[in-house]
Amino acid sequence: MRKLQWIVVGAAALVTAAAAIVWFSPSAQDAVLRRVAARQLRAPLPPPPSTTAIRLVFCGTGSPLPDRHVAKSCLAVFAGSRFFVVDTGPESTENLLLWRLPLAKIDGVLLTHFHSDHIGELGELNLQSWLQGRQAPLMVYGPPGVEQVVAGFNTAYAQDEAVRHAHHARDRGLLPLSASTLASRAISVGTEGPLSGTESAVVYDQEGLRITAFKVDHGVVKPAYGYRFDYRGRSVVVSGDTRSTSSIANAARGADVLVHEAQSKALVSTLSAVARESGNRQVSLLLGDTNDYHTTPAEAAAIANAAGVRELVFTHFTPPSSNPLVRHAFFRDVDAVRPEHWRTARDGLWLDIPTNENSVQEGLIKR
Ligand SMILES: [Zn+2]
Ligand SMILES: [Zn+2]
Repeated sequence: MRKLQWIVVGAAALVTAAAAIVWFSPSAQDAVLRRVAARQLRAPLPPPPSTTAIRLVFCGTGSPLPDRHVAKSCLAVFAGSRFFVVDTGPESTENLLLWRLPLAKIDGVLLTHFHSDHIGELGELNLQSWLQGRQAPLMVYGPPGVEQVVAGFNTAYAQDEAVRHAHHARDRGLLPLSASTLASRAISVGTEGPLSGTESAVVYDQEGLRITAFKVDHGVVKPAYGYRFDYRGRSVVVSGDTRSTSSIANAARGADVLVHEAQSKALVSTLSAVARESGNRQVSLLLGDTNDYHTTPAEAAAIANAAGVRELVFTHFTPPSSNPLVRHAFFRDVDAVRPEHWRTARDGLWLDIPTNENSVQEGLIKR
């Protein structure tokens, strides 16, 4: 026993001595910082199981209501060498940067609609991917009106881009101004599109990846889109913000993964009532209005069943909460509709959908 005590005392003394050396020695501090920086620069994501997989990384799973630990709407989609981001909600770029996703190689942004929880970080995503080495304007696809959104962000960031270019470019070929901006492409969907039962249009079709926009029903927000990704026989459908609509079931027919928004109308009604009782009439009314144009988890489960999708993944939680009881109440009606093959996303969740097998694998990026 006495021997063990001496070992503990000796170990504590060694740790204290090491800490003192680091604290008082600049060269020791620099050595430690180099090791930490090298570790932080390594990407925390494992490589996909094959080069031919769709990989989803949930970079924002929240909704307009604030939650310190959850970014707003954002989904990164990788297929082969292609890399798209669906929506850029506030706080999502920080996730993309912290996880060292290859922003310089981003091929485009797909906006579902123009609510601020879906577009708030368009300027930051553009700037950060340019700073990382993007060599062409960042293309932004979306419903008609995307031109106005993009022009506004370009105007807002023009002075920053000019001074960064002047500071860093010099004759070193860095930060070309020709690549600094956002470009836009408005997508018009129609009944002659490739998806039957919903208005749709092909947005992108290269290197085996086909992206199709389709119309959803987000109430007064017209038009609002979802997106379907098809890559070498595997498929992912993203609902965007929408009421329960057969349009999603038609667009998601036979898909491997359906990523669907979810709003607990019961919880939102409770929040609205509490706000009213506490004298906050405006918040109460605004919250109540949102129940008009979103989908409950049970409704989304029924859509997934009708479409015959393999896996349903809930995202865009209203209200967001990490409290276990609230989460339980949020999804309490789902099992009666779809007892299995559904899961909830969270920031950092990744899903791999390999093209050479029928599996869907998942993991979580450590914060
Ligand atoms: Zn939203
Ligand atoms: Zn919305």
